Amino acid sequence: MSEVADLLPALVALRQDIHAHPELAFTEHRTAALVAAALKELGLEVHEGIGGTGVVGVLRHGAGRCIGLRADMDALPMQEQSGLAHASRTGGIHHGCGHDGHTTMLLGAARHLARTRRFAGTVVFIFQPAEEGKGGARVMIEDGLFERFPCDAVYALHNWPDLPLGEAQTRPGAIMAAADRFDITVRGRGGHAAQPQQTPDAILAASELVCQLNTIVARQIDPGESAVLSVTRIEGGHSHNVLPAEVGITGTVRSFDADTQDRIEAALRARAAGVALSSGTEIEVTYTRYYPATINSRAEAELALAAAQSIGLRASEAARPAFTSEDFAFMLKEVPGAYLWLGQGAAAAAVSDADAVAAWASRPLHHPCYDFNDKALPLGIRWFTAVVERELGGLGG
Ligand SMILES: [Zn+2]
Ligand SMILES: [Zn+2]
Repeated sequence: MSEVADLLPALVALRQDIHAHPELAFTEHRTAALVAAALKELGLEVHEGIGGTGVVGVLRHGAGRCIGLRADMDALPMQEQSGLAHASRTGGIHHGCGHDGHTTMLLGAARHLARTRRFAGTVVFIFQPAEEGKGGARVMIEDGLFERFPCDAVYALHNWPDLPLGEAQTRPGAIMAAADRFDITVRGRGGHAAQPQQTPDAILAASELVCQLNTIVARQIDPGESAVLSVTRIEGGHSHNVLPAEVGITGTVRSFDADTQDRIEAALRARAAGVALSSGTEIEVTYTRYYPATINSRAEAELALAAAQSIGLRASEAARPAFTSEDFAFMLKEVPGAYLWLGQGAAAAAVSDADAVAAWASRPLHHPCYDFNDKALPLGIRWFTAVVERELGGLGG
C-alpha cells in the first residue's frame, strides 16, 4: 500500500467530509464541485454538467486506447443513525451505500495515475449523479457521454460489506439483476361493508392477486433461471364498515435475462386480467423496467480479477450474481467492461469477534448505521490504477 500511502490522510478527510454532506440524486452540486476542483488541481481536462451534475475528467498520456472509470456520487433519502463524528449533517439524507467512498477512490486513482503515468492512452474519469434508482448513468449517456468521450472499455466497483476487507469478486456475464417495478390499482365501486353484494370487493380482489403474483416465479419460470417478485405495498380502506373503491399494490421484480423478464411481465398482466374478470373489479397495471441487468463482458471481467490479484487482493470469480441492481448496467450496454465487488467487511477470521462484527459486517448497504470503510480506500485506488496499467499496456499493476 506504500505507493499511495502519502495520499491517504487527505483522502480519508475528503471521504468523511463528503459523508457529512450527502446529496440526493441530481442535486450533488457540492460533491460535483469538490470533484471538479480536485480534478482541475491535477491539471486534468474537466467537463461539468453532463447529465445534470455529472463530471468527467480526462487524463491523456500518449497515443493509445481509452479507458473509462466510473464512480457514483449520490446518497440515500434515509436518516443516518451511526452516531459517528462525520455522520450526515443533513437530516433525512445518508451516504448509506458508500458512494462517498467510490467518489473518493476514483479521485485518489486520478491523483495517482496523474503522477505515475505508467500507461499510454487516455483515461476518462466519470463521476455520475443519481445511481440510486434515478438512472444518472442513462442520463449521462443520453447527454452524449460516450460520443464526447469514446471509451474502449469501462470499469466500476462497489464496496461490498458481505466480503471481508482484502477480498474482491466479479464474474463474466450477469453480476447484478435487472430491476422492474409494478404499480397496480384495483377498482371496485366502494360501498357499505354490510352490503357486499352491491360492489366488487377491491380488498378481496387485491388479496387474491397478491397470492397469485407470488406463484409466478415458482410456477412459470424455469427452475434453472433466477428471478424474484416481491409485493412491497398494499394500501386501501380507512374504516371498519366501508368497502373501499380502490386498493393500490406496488412491488418489484428482479431477473437476469430478457426472456425471464418478458415472461414475468406477461404472467403478471394475465393474473391481473384474470382476477379482474372473476371479481368484477377493474385492474390497471403499470409495469416499468428501470434498470437492465448488469452484464460484464468476459475479457474485461477477467482483466478486473487479474488486476485485483496483482495488487494482492484475494480475488475470485463470484459464484452467482446479486439480486440488487446497478445503474452502471446502462454503461455496460454501450461499452464492454466489468463491475467489481470490493470487500470492506470484517475479516472472516474476526467474525466471531463482537467488535469486528459491530464495526462493519453487521451494517449492510442501506443500513442506517452503515459507513464506508476507509481501509478500503487504498485498495480501490490501486485496483483502478492496475486496471488502467493492464488495459493501456503500461508497466503492469
Ligand atoms: Zn445503494
Ligand atoms: Zn450503491
